Amino acid sequence: MAPTVHTLPSAQALEFGLASQLHVSFEFFPPKTPDMAVALWQAVDRLAPLAPAFVSVTYGAGGSTRERTHVTIERILATTDLVPAAHLTCVAASRAEISEVIHRYWDAGVRHIVALRGDPPAGVGIRYEPHPEGYRNAADLVAGIRREVNAEITVAAYPEKHPDSPDVEADIDMLAAKVDAGANRAITQFFFDNDLYFRYVDRVRARGIEVPIVPGILPVQNFGQVQNFAQRCGASLPAWLARRFEGLDDDPATRKLIAATVAAEQVLELARRGVRDFHFYTMNRADLVYAICHLLGLRPQLRRAAA
Ligand code: FAD
Repeated sequence: MAPTVHTLPSAQALEFGLASQLHVSFEFFPPKTPDMAVALWQAVDRLAPLAPAFVSVTYGAGGSTRERTHVTIERILATTDLVPAAHLTCVAASRAEISEVIHRYWDAGVRHIVALRGDPPAGVGIRYEPHPEGYRNAADLVAGIRREVNAEITVAAYPEKHPDSPDVEADIDMLAAKVDAGANRAITQFFFDNDLYFRYVDRVRARGIEVPIVPGILPVQNFGQVQNFAQRCGASLPAWLARRFEGLDDDPATRKLIAATVAAEQVLELARRGVRDFHFYTMNRADLVYAICHLLGLRPQLRRAAA
């Protein structure tokens, strides 16, 4: 019998050989209540020693968390040695208002902005209407940021296309416009079928777009919530994923083990197929993300002394 030929590195090889080439980043959202603030800062403390390339903080729908996003970013800058990336959306805001936010970020020490259009205030699926004095879309916003400050700029990408887009090629037109306007990298919407990601990256590269397309990984903390997100953002949920969480509504311990397995399989396969940058949607919880990073071979680093 012919020997099996392994062309991809095994999980063990990954763990021991490739960790130094990996870059991870973590996304947090600004907390609404004191309890949520405790959870956020516990998650930040736990994940910080993994030395992420950056940590991003979201900007609530329609700029609703503008102040809380800013306070969260300021605290990251003041109390950690992490590099923050501040999200910014242009929905329902004039160019002058956006300019103010950009300069406030810059003056606080932010050098990386995640530039997004945002969803219409009336909800996803309703036609997006730009503010009469605002930016039309994320590409326009990226150009606006570039005119104001010399920040690193990350944008969103959609392996399964954005719901507003007629097809994937039209969606890639928008990604190309964002990159032409000055975006340095894209982070994808979450997905669970890795082939979708690789097919998308092939199409993006075929269009001559060279910026990193970093997979956005969503560990399933709560399957119902993920179903909800998926429905709103047009991401598909494979039948096998639903089956894995079937019957576990009242069994959080098993759910957590399954969630860890699902995310570990996904991330290890991406790594075996050459992916080196990962962005984790943490939902302000560290455990699953920490475990997955550990599987990838990442270990806590000694913290650099605060400057
Ligand atoms: P754009 O790139 O401007 O457009 C999205 C898509 O709409 C395009 O890809 C294109 O297909 C279509 N489209 C837009 N304009 C046109 C046009 N003129 N003609 C044809 N098609 C068009 N939302 C928040 O509110 N706060 C956040 O912090 C936040 N963070 C996010 C982080 C990531 C990594 C991702 C993937 C999404 C995030 N979102 C956030 C959600 C995002 O705001 C929504 O997906 C929004 O609907 C689109 O934003 P965008 O920047 O992709 O928009």
